[in-house]
Amino acid sequence: AGPVSARPPGRGSGAASPRAVPGRLLSGVTADLPRCPGRGQATRRWQEPLLPGFGLPPPQMRGRVSALPRYSLYARTRLGYLFYQRQVKKARERYPHGHSVPQPYCFPGVKILPIPVLSNNYSYLVIDTGSSQAAVIDPSDPLAVQAAIEDEGVMLEAIFCTHKHWDHSGGNEALCQKHNSCRVYGSALDAIPQLTNPLADREKVTVGCLTFEALATPGHTVGHMVYVLDGGPFGSPPCLFSGDLLFLAGCGRPFEGSPETMLASLDLAMGLGEDTLLWPGHEYALECLTFASLLELDNSALEQKLQWAVQQRQEKKSTCPSTLGEEQTYNPFLRTHRPELQDALGLWQGEGEDLDAFRARVLKEVRRRKDLYQAT
Ligand SMILES: [Zn+2]
Repeated sequence: AGPVSARPPGRGSGAASPRAVPGRLLSGVTADLPRCPGRGQATRRWQEPLLPGFGLPPPQMRGRVSALPRYSLYARTRLGYLFYQRQVKKARERYPHGHSVPQPYCFPGVKILPIPVLSNNYSYLVIDTGSSQAAVIDPSDPLAVQAAIEDEGVMLEAIFCTHKHWDHSGGNEALCQKHNSCRVYGSALDAIPQLTNPLADREKVTVGCLTFEALATPGHTVGHMVYVLDGGPFGSPPCLFSGDLLFLAGCGRPFEGSPETMLASLDLAMGLGEDTLLWPGHEYALECLTFASLLELDNSALEQKLQWAVQQRQEKKSTCPSTLGEEQTYNPFLRTHRPELQDALGLWQGEGEDLDAFRARVLKEVRRRKDLYQAT
């Protein structure tokens, strides 16, 4: 095993610890993207700590249902919804102005507004500025999303849900009540609340001048989908709304799929091209980059991005978007083919072992170490 794999996960040399990082800003690719002036700051936001252990029910309910795994409780029973409601309430109290300062992006004809919700989720309001028609990706706190809709003065035409988890879909019902003509899109394989328009893989949906393509990306859930906004008409790169498939330097847990399934979904996303902007479902950058820096000790792109993220988060600034090109340089879940990561993990391709089978093994080991890291 390599020197890194001999070390207990989560205990690095400290060389890349956020506190040890000098205050230097990375002038990354995304720094050159057009920021919208002004707006967005007035939007009300709130949220709260995400599921410690994912799906932990409220204290008064623990014990009664201990036979069921936490994940099943959260995803498949009403307890999950009650837990989500409690999360929303606590988040509104704890973060009356949101977990991050939203930084809207504008291209001619389109505006993308991240809405910080719960303790680290993002919903996204995507606006066709010509017609003022809008779509929202993964509305969890309906009040925060509604506030953004009113601030922007737009009509909500569509909700795109990446998957069924309440922290991505909990606002569907309230928003549909408020916006009668709003359609709800997602996979029929996930039990998405208020789903009106089940989507097939590669199906396209238009909202005003905006065209979104749905891509089936199972693994986190069986029906997980990501949505790609075609930037062509606006002279912008494609925008990937990745839900819990892919985060900055991270990846969602494969709750309902094998490492092989997750790997295929990640590969599919990476096929979108290096200039694609990544808009993830959570603000996990600091934690994910710190973990990644413990795996790969000599990765300068990773070190720079970590330093940049430390700066951003000190000012509560959002770290999205990054680009898929950037992600390939530091996200360990996208680097399963890289010898430096394989060596660091102490894994080698077996004789006669299929490359994708080996990469799935690498992915599984990265995931295992990440879970241990989070548990510490
Ligand atoms: Zn999820």
